[in-house]
Amino acid sequence: MERVAIIGAGIAGLQLGRRLQGAGIAVSLFDKARGPAGRIATRRLDYGRFDHGAQYFTARDPVFAAQVEDWCARGVAARWTGRIVTLSGGAIEPEPSPVPRHVGVPSMSAMARDLATGADVRVGVRIASVRRTNARWGLVADDGQAFEGFDGLVSAVPAPQAAPFLASSTELGLHARCAQFDPCHALMIEFEEPVGADFDAAFVKDSAVGWVAREASKPGRAASNGWVVHSTAAWSRANVDRKAEEVHEVLRGAFAAALGGRLPGIRGAAVHRWLYARAAGPVVGAALWDGKFGLGVCGDWLRGDRIEDAFLSAERLADLMLASRERDELS
Ligand SMILES: Cc1cc2nc3c(=O)[nH]c(=O)nc-3n(C[C@H](O)[C@H](O)[C@H](O)COP(=O)(O)OP(=O)(O)OC[C@H]3O[C@@H](n4cnc5c(N)ncnc54)[C@H](O)[C@@H]3O)c2cc1C
Repeated sequence: MERVAIIGAGIAGLQLGRRLQGAGIAVSLFDKARGPAGRIATRRLDYGRFDHGAQYFTARDPVFAAQVEDWCARGVAARWTGRIVTLSGGAIEPEPSPVPRHVGVPSMSAMARDLATGADVRVGVRIASVRRTNARWGLVADDGQAFEGFDGLVSAVPAPQAAPFLASSTELGLHARCAQFDPCHALMIEFEEPVGADFDAAFVKDSAVGWVAREASKPGRAASNGWVVHSTAAWSRANVDRKAEEVHEVLRGAFAAALGGRLPGIRGAAVHRWLYARAAGPVVGAALWDGKFGLGVCGDWLRGDRIEDAFLSAERLADLMLASRERDELS
């Protein structure tokens, strides 16, 4: 295995690329977005920067914990010590985490930029189809660009987006079709004045809103009155095609209701819909590799629904691919 193409430059694709490149394999990553990061992307708006996807991460596994330690030592990430609570019918309860919460610095996408250092990442390229000819993979983008000559191909995208890349392998395709994802709407909102809240972030119960966070409470952020408001999965499922203005009204109203009062005036706001926000199972063993076709799959959904799962899925796939290369060399 000398050349590998990875579709998707989120945490999983980037970490896999780093591991394979470290083992002497030439890796090209393709991502449809304007930059690497996927669901840990940061949105820059006229009135501020917002982590509108993943909010923070935790490390329970020693391998990922070592990576987090390294990021923290180099200033790529830091511990978030904001006051996080649960809001339920007017009651406020602290929401301790069994393990420390961390964030990227100065934004969540910092970890993606770090993993992408030295990698061949082609952004703004949406892969539409793949084909295998004479034991080599070729990829075709939606604008007709073709990329040829890879001996390995990896899908590192959310399961519902992976189907076109997995047609050669019945088993891999089946796993991707069975995996469920929940949507989430993110409201990014900059207020004219500070919100009178006695917390930095909250899990909200019995509401259209599931989570709110004060951007400036995270380390390394500029001072701002910016908040990210996430809908619950249930609300987004029932309202998946609602217009952005309506989503804004509902989520802002629910945020105000959860606070039990009025919110300040707004300087600016935007809504983003994550159609495939959180993996909802079933998990299928961290990563999949079909040596016959040189075809692999990684991503959070194979192991769980968090950043740590995406990273560890990539670790697992790298182990499988490198072991398979070793076997091929011996035979
Ligand atoms: C709203 C929200 C809140 C979250 N909160 C948390 C949290 O607090 N803590 C936590 O640990 N996790 C959280 N997560 C989950 C976390 O973001 C993910 O588990 C993790 O980022 C997944 O990484 P990944 O590499 O597997 O996939 P992704 O980050 O989705 O990367 C896949 C990449 O593939 C690209 N792509 C897709 N299709 C194509 C194509 N056809 N061609 C080219 N590129 C393509 C996409 O652009 C994307 O960059 C949250 C996610 C969301 C959306």
